[in-house]
Amino acid sequence: MRTILRVEDLLVEFPTPHGQVRAVNGVTFQLATGERLGIVGESGSGKSMTLLTIMGLTPPPGRIRRGEVWFKERNLLEASPQELRQMRGRHIAMIFQDPMTTLNPVFRVGEQIRESLRVHQYLGEERVPASRRKALEKQRVLRLMAEVGIPAPEERYEAYPHEFSGGMQQRAMIAIALSCDPEVILADEPTTALDVTVQAQIMRLLDQINRQRGTAIVLVTHDLHLATEFCDRILVMYAGQIVEQGPTEAVIRHPKHPYTQGLLGALPEIRPEKTPLMPIPGEIDLAHLPPGCPFAPRCHRAMEACSTPPALLEVEENHQVRCFLYGGLA
Ligand code: SF4
Repeated sequence: MRTILRVEDLLVEFPTPHGQVRAVNGVTFQLATGERLGIVGESGSGKSMTLLTIMGLTPPPGRIRRGEVWFKERNLLEASPQELRQMRGRHIAMIFQDPMTTLNPVFRVGEQIRESLRVHQYLGEERVPASRRKALEKQRVLRLMAEVGIPAPEERYEAYPHEFSGGMQQRAMIAIALSCDPEVILADEPTTALDVTVQAQIMRLLDQINRQRGTAIVLVTHDLHLATEFCDRILVMYAGQIVEQGPTEAVIRHPKHPYTQGLLGALPEIRPEKTPLMPIPGEIDLAHLPPGCPFAPRCHRAMEACSTPPALLEVEENHQVRCFLYGGLA
């Protein structure tokens, strides 16, 4: 598999009354074609901000201070706004947590999916009369709606978002993401707003898209269980940094970082044998991080060395950890 998306040393800062806060702090990772990568961590870990920055959607007043985001041979951080607009949807698409904040309540669902095709000129520039083009676009939208499991697409094409259930709205969002057949889908907590049964249906749909279309998927979630079920590889973030990454099996069966162990320890269904049930005290406070390991104030294994920043080091093949229990200084 070749690398399709590569993030290098990405750093995103936000001004706050306490000074500049690093929401994303030196994040580096790769995504291979057709791969399923999970990014997990609590709120404030930087996972959603990483996705938004890849899409060129860093919310103001956030600033990208350094880093690179490569899609194939193009550094997206150097792309013009027009090039980025073309890239979004056409090559990389995003599914957001809450479809109601993304779907426009005053437009019919089918038209919103068709708009995505139109904006990205998915059907090409050939000289097709406008009425014929519209009919072709509508046919494609109806096929997409059927593919993502929206029943009676002809009828539902004309419906407004409020006439859809939460699960159906998320399916419509997935249809928009799929409309231009992207090579990468970034899914930001795509099932958080849904009940458990609908959540399982949406994850099955993403599974089907990945298998049948070969679309690479980055799944951002606070739900380690969900990431375990779905992803080939897991990347654990804390306070804007990657603290552990590796194949799902390795990270789940042999978690190394105390933070990953804490996250797993709270999940009885996948907690590794002999890992004590140990909730993580406190919460991430980006404005008051210590100068060394950011996890130190919450870490039950903190020691003197932790007052300097640890580096991300390989502890097993393809399994990396940022913790002094396993290696040296940054
Ligand atoms: Fe805990 Fe120290 Fe490892 Fe940080 S570096 S996770 S404080 S043991």
